[in-house]
Amino acid sequence: DIGKVGFIGLGNMGSHMANNLIDAGFELVVHDINCEAIKKFVEKGVPIKETPLQLAESSDVVITMLPSSSHVLDVYTGSNGLLHGGPFLRPWLFIDSSTIDPQTSRSLSATISKCTLEKIKGSIGIPVMLDAPVSGGVPGAEAGTLTFMVGGLEEAYLAAKPLFHSMGKCATYCGRSGNGAAAKICNNMAMAVSMVGVSEALALGQNLGISATTLTKIFNSSSARCWSSDSYNPVPGVMTGVPSSKNYEGGFSSKLMAKDLELATASAEQVGHNCRLASQALDIYKELCKGGHESKDFSCVFRQYYSGKDE
Ligand code: NAD
Repeated sequence: DIGKVGFIGLGNMGSHMANNLIDAGFELVVHDINCEAIKKFVEKGVPIKETPLQLAESSDVVITMLPSSSHVLDVYTGSNGLLHGGPFLRPWLFIDSSTIDPQTSRSLSATISKCTLEKIKGSIGIPVMLDAPVSGGVPGAEAGTLTFMVGGLEEAYLAAKPLFHSMGKCATYCGRSGNGAAAKICNNMAMAVSMVGVSEALALGQNLGISATTLTKIFNSSSARCWSSDSYNPVPGVMTGVPSSKNYEGGFSSKLMAKDLELATASAEQVGHNCRLASQALDIYKELCKGGHESKDFSCVFRQYYSGKDE
């Protein structure tokens, strides 16, 4: 039995995820610092809590969907934070779906495991934290088709499955605490670099006289095929329905991509891992942001390489 679910962070992603949980029949209480974000939930009659601590006092499971590590730390360990009522906590499970670094996830999880449950729920004697970041963007959050990458205690992952399957189509257990966060930043690092590579190559093709549509067709039946070429092509006019064909509107912003690459390169540094391509990609996305494209979809990186006529 999951019990009552407290949801914090009702932004672009979290508002849809919380709605899907309500539609699936879960009883929710919510919190956000932005009045606009909570308005829709007030209208639906969902109970609103003033602080994370108040939310924790009336929730069995807490889900957080916040912008970055500093916000997550603030919501968990700040004054009036989720853990402020410790050492005895009501929630038996904390799920953080924000994209943050694995080191922060691990240290929060260790802090939580030092707390004690107010009353023991299910088979787990101590409160547990899962890091469960997502892939699929705002459309995936709205449609309930997100992919969850989950790190932490496996029993907790199995117990939380009904929640993941109400918000997503796929949940993969990644191992110990922080491994979900690690999976997410590695996925986005590969995606950031592949988008730059595909853009660079498609731009070269056009400069050499071959159209991006023809070259994409070749990539997609050859060894250059990848998500950036066959599902999210960066050249305007090559595919319909993707941000590149809508003036790079919607989608995943260059600013968020730069944030995720910062996380990946900082985490790599902490473990002495050299990732030269990701560092270069980070510089490229930072330039895009400085150039006024921070809200445009990250596939607008193609524009860094080609300013001629599109398809
Ligand atoms: P968002 O900025 O739209 O929403 C964040 C929400 O958190 C806002 O409503 C904000 O008011 C609230 N918030 C911030 N600080 C708070 C605090 N101290 N207490 C309570 N509420 C607070 O962000 P988003 O696009 O929903 O993304 C959330 C997370 O999901 C990020 O970590 C992001 O990297 C990740 N993510 C986003 C996407 C995407 O396409 N947008 C895709 C995958 C993962």
